[in-house]
Order: sequence, then C-alpha cells, then structure tokens
Amino acid sequence: MKYISTRGNIAPIGFKEAVMMGLATDGGLILPESIPQIAPETLAAWAKLPYRELAFNIISLFATDIPAADLKALIDRSYGTFEHQETTPLVQKDGVYILELFHGPTLAFKDVALQLLGNLFEYLLKERGEKMNILGATSGDTGSAAIAGVRGKENINIFILHPHLKTSPIQALQMTSVLDANVHNIAVEGTFDDCQNIVKTLFNDLEFKKEYALGAVNSINWARVLAQVVYYFYAWGRLPEQGKVVFSVPTGNFGDIFAGYLAKRMGLPVEKLLLATNENNILSRFVQSGDYSLGQVVQTVSPSMDIQLASNLERYLYYLFNESAERVRSAFAELQQTGKIVFSAEEVQRVQSEFLSCTVNEAMTLETIASFNKETGYVLDPHTAVGVRGALECVKGHPAVVCLATAHPAKFGEAVERAIGTPAPLPPQLAALQGKETRCEIMAADKELVKAFVKAKA
Ligand SMILES: *Cc1c(COP(=O)(O)O)cnc(C)c1O
Repeated sequence: MKYISTRGNIAPIGFKEAVMMGLATDGGLILPESIPQIAPETLAAWAKLPYRELAFNIISLFATDIPAADLKALIDRSYGTFEHQETTPLVQKDGVYILELFHGPTLAFKDVALQLLGNLFEYLLKERGEKMNILGATSGDTGSAAIAGVRGKENINIFILHPHLKTSPIQALQMTSVLDANVHNIAVEGTFDDCQNIVKTLFNDLEFKKEYALGAVNSINWARVLAQVVYYFYAWGRLPEQGKVVFSVPTGNFGDIFAGYLAKRMGLPVEKLLLATNENNILSRFVQSGDYSLGQVVQTVSPSMDIQLASNLERYLYYLFNESAERVRSAFAELQQTGKIVFSAEEVQRVQSEFLSCTVNEAMTLETIASFNKETGYVLDPHTAVGVRGALECVKGHPAVVCLATAHPAKFGEAVERAIGTPAPLPPQLAALQGKETRCEIMAADKELVKAFVKAKA
C-alpha cells in the first residue's frame, strides 16, 4: 500500500514513511492511494473477532511494509493497556448503543490512536537508528494521551506545554504525575493560545527543528486515523444484527468521524454518519447548507470540541472533490484569502448523502446528561452527550444507532455535577492520582525559555 498527499505534490511513500512524515511535506494530509474493499463474507467473518485480531486484520491492509509478527506485537502492546477486556465495549441504553472508547490509560478515546502511535514511533525509530523529540501544546486531553502513549519509550522525549492552572486539576495531574525520565511537562504562565504559538514558532525554526528532530503527535498523523477505523467495524460486529447502522460522532477536528467515513468506503454498511458539534458548529453548517466559513472559537462544556478549523476535513474534501489535488489546493487558497470555501450544489448534495448533522448547545448538553441519567442511570460525559442528543433528535426510531462515547464522565466532573447534582464517581486510576508526586516546569510564555529547556533535556 502506497500513500499520497491531498495536495498532490509528494511521490508515493510506504506506510512507515507516512507515519514518520506526519503532515505531508507539501502541506497536505496523507491518504492511501486506494481504499481496500472488504467483501460482505469477510465482514461477516470478522463480526465476532476479539478487538486485537480485528485490529490486526484491518491495520495490516494498510501497513503492508511491517512484518505481520511485528505488527501483531505492536497491536497487542497498544491495547494491552486498556482496562476493559473488550477494549471498546458496546453497551445498550435507552434505545441507543454507546460505544465506550474511554477505557485506555487516560480515559479518553484519544488513547486508542496514541497508544498505537507511541509504539509505532518507538519501533520505527529503533529500525532507523534515530531519536525524536515530540513537542506539543494541549488544553487537556491530547497532551495526557500523548504522554501516556510514549512514556518510558526508547529514543523518544516528549515535551508538552499546557497553560498553567488553566486545565482541569485532574487533567494537569494526569500529565504531571507521569515521572518517566523521557516525559517533560511545561506549565506556561499564559493561555492555551500562548502555548500553541510557542510550539508553532519552534516548529517554524527549521534549524532547531532539524537539529533536535522535532516530531508532532497531532491528529493529522495517518496512523491515528487508521487506529480509529477499527472500532467502527468492532461496534458493527457487536450489534445483535449486522444490518445498516448510523454512527453519531461528537466532532472537533473531524479525525474520528473521518475514520468512520473510511470504514464506510471500505464496505462497512454505514447508513449515515451523524456529525454532532457544540456551539463551534462550522462543520454542522457545512453539512446542513454547504456554509464553510470560519468563526471565532467559543468555550463550551465540551472543550475538546472547541475548534473552528478542523484539520482532518481536508482528507474528506479530497474525496468530495473526486480525488482532485488541484481542487483541494484551490479550496485552501480560497479559505486563506476569504475565510471560507464555497461548494457547488452537487457537492453539498453528496455531503448530505453521507452525513447528518446537528448543533447541540451547552444547555441542551447538560439537559441531555440529566435526562439520560434519569432514564437509564448511565452518566454521559459532555462530549458524548452532544452525540447522544443528536442521535435522539435526528435519527429517532432507527434500530441501530451507535453513539461514540469519547471520554469518561469523571474527566469532566464539573459539567457532570452541574447537570445531575453530583460528580461522576472517580474510577480507580483517577482516584489514585490525588496526592501523587508530580514533576512540572513552570515557565513564562517565552519561546526562548522553552527552546533552552528542550536543548537541555533532549
Ligand atoms: C478530541 C476529542 C473529541 C473530538 O474528536 P475529533 O477527532 O477531533 O473530531 C471529542 N471528544 C473528546 C473527549 C475528545 O478528546
């Protein structure tokens, strides 16, 4: 399997190189040259496979340059860290199915991708005899999942910047209580934007980037998308009947739902993908009317979806534009010049043939956590609640609606408490964090300080 760029200006590369490249060198996103097709008999045969076997069957179609035994070992190690023996169990509540993606080390769905990416990086760096310094900024979830993905790994250091005292206390502890020598937390005296700006500036410092082999773990890495394709197949196989299914996906960067789109293109019987957003609803406007115009980011109770520019959308646009890299390039030039992309009526119609969408505001989110809890006893986290509300409103009565549960409710205890009066009970991993020893460097929002710190520790 070879990989290409949505912008059309890289020579085809293998899977291993695609993982190491991250963002394509022409500024585009990496995609497989063709999408493998899974025949209905094969799908049926895969339906009841254990998670790791299914993951191997799917990932090996794309990672053709990694020997089977090595890939198996990488997958086993990645999902051996999940608390639940099913990895991503499917439960039924109140007429909808909930796919629990939060049983990994940091209790958010990003673990599914980042556990695999961490192991892949270690494997590939060893093979190449190289080292990597991962640098990233986080407002919460991604940072802790990235740290959990690479802690203790050989030839990798990770530097994660978070805004000092501006993440939730649990999220900060999930990062700073990791004491492995290769993990470096930096609490920046400033905002998340300050953190992100510092990281961007250092990545643009090409000399520094090259000398210190800076790497990223953001959601544009192809391996992250690929890891997420697996659980769409898994959920379908766990339904009582293997018919057409609707997936409801709480969406920010479009990574998770794009994995669902790929699963559909591979042959999984997906009727629709329901794209659910909070007030940052550029993507639901896009689905509803083809309006893709950037707005201001507003803060909500589902902070991991507070995003305007969804980086993974470019992957979908490539297919929407019938695999024309030229049209992708002109669309993003248009976005840069005018702050929006204009779509043809035919394109909007095609989007609507694949996706449903809805916007769920803060009041609706809290109300859904409360009513769902009252009816089923189940506690939704605010991100998951956005998707569940969308499912209950837009696809009423459908026999197979699967809502992706992207975080454990205890990670967002404050919002849950506002909704139901009590916080969600802390699972043992989170309870154990209280009073743990921590290590973290507090620093002014100054790129030179961060640069000097990376140089000293790398
Ligand atoms: C990252 C995240 C999302 C959004 O996923 P995307 O792939 O960015 O669309 C939703 N919920 C939680 C809890 C997350 O951490």
